[in-house]
Amino acid sequence: MKAHAPVAILVHHTASPANTKRDIHYKMRALQDFSQKPADLGNGGKRAAWADVPYHFYVSSDGHIAEGRDINSSGDTNTNYDTTGHIQVVLEGNFERARPNVEQMEALEPLLVSLAKKWQVPASEIRVHKEVASTLCPGKYFLEVFPSLNERVAKQLKSK
Ligand SMILES: [Zn+2]
Repeated sequence: MKAHAPVAILVHHTASPANTKRDIHYKMRALQDFSQKPADLGNGGKRAAWADVPYHFYVSSDGHIAEGRDINSSGDTNTNYDTTGHIQVVLEGNFERARPNVEQMEALEPLLVSLAKKWQVPASEIRVHKEVASTLCPGKYFLEVFPSLNERVAKQLKSK
């Protein structure tokens, strides 16, 4: 993995339907298994195995948060942008097809605030994957709620 210094936050969805039958420990192990094997990409290409899960934080559909990759190492991606400096936060679900859960959004907001405070990331540097690469991630239903979420986070960053 490559060392980096976090200066921005990038939000993703897993693009898989939320699984309400499994807990976050199971989901993280499944994601790590998947990440550490080579995989076929949708465009016919292949990617090599990654050292670890590509994300630094995972927010499950029931609002639990897990730490993924060490935050001091940059993330991985199947899309075309430089992951250096980005704290990668992923939400479980496919938000092209379904809306994020309330519990999930209620967990995400304080996570973004605390990460932004800790790493001195301004609200303008909290973005979604689609803003930096050619992808639908994190899905149209998340994009609907992101501007108001970002405003609430910005307010909390101002009031120290
Ligand atoms: Zn993404």
